[in-house]
Amino acid sequence: MRINEIFYSLQGEGFLAGVPSVFVRIAGCPLRCRWCDTKYAWSKEAGRQYSSIDEIIQAIQQWPCRFVVITGGEPMVNPDLPSLVRKLKSDGKHITIETAGIAYMPDMPCDLMSISPKLSNSVLEEPKLEAIHKDSKLDLAVLGALIDNYNYQVKFVVDSEVDLPEIEQTIEKLANVDREKIMLMPQADTREELLAKSPMVADLCKRTGCAFSQRLHVLLWNNERGT
Ligand code: SF4
Repeated sequence: MRINEIFYSLQGEGFLAGVPSVFVRIAGCPLRCRWCDTKYAWSKEAGRQYSSIDEIIQAIQQWPCRFVVITGGEPMVNPDLPSLVRKLKSDGKHITIETAGIAYMPDMPCDLMSISPKLSNSVLEEPKLEAIHKDSKLDLAVLGALIDNYNYQVKFVVDSEVDLPEIEQTIEKLANVDREKIMLMPQADTREELLAKSPMVADLCKRTGCAFSQRLHVLLWNNERGT
């Protein structure tokens, strides 16, 4: 299994923001979001090859921390993910999987499926990458299956107020989604951008009843790598 990086930090986003967690970033993502903050993990080759799941577990265990966040890239397209998740669970870990919601895997003992469906604001202008990204960024059947079968949160990345109708349309199409599990999160790669967009997103949260998702790592460390 090729892992881009393993590090210890605070969960920056979602309902578990602030919780100390070990992050396992799996290499490879089929999408190409315009504002992706982990472009260095796009390639399947972008990382170190671990010889076994046990070797990854050993790297995680160097920190005495129960919370593990499996992120990417896009972890849900990696065929070795279920073995890693099962082994972590047998070690008593709390597991969050961060996914764009574009692929489904059944029966994983995952405590929180953190789903971030991608909107039009994620599409790149570069024609080749736009084509790769546009057709596969949203799969309502997969999103529905994740919501129906896992404990979940849904985080929409908001670039501007213009995104709201698309967010509402997407929510309407997700029949069983619980609005109390939906969060709106500012699109921001820097502290300045985060502070500038947060009041607009806070206002949208008050209008929609969705929760505000912090980006604590950006606030604290300005999205420095490994945080
Ligand atoms: S899905 Fe996530 S990792 Fe993949 S390009 Fe988009 S933001 Fe980056």
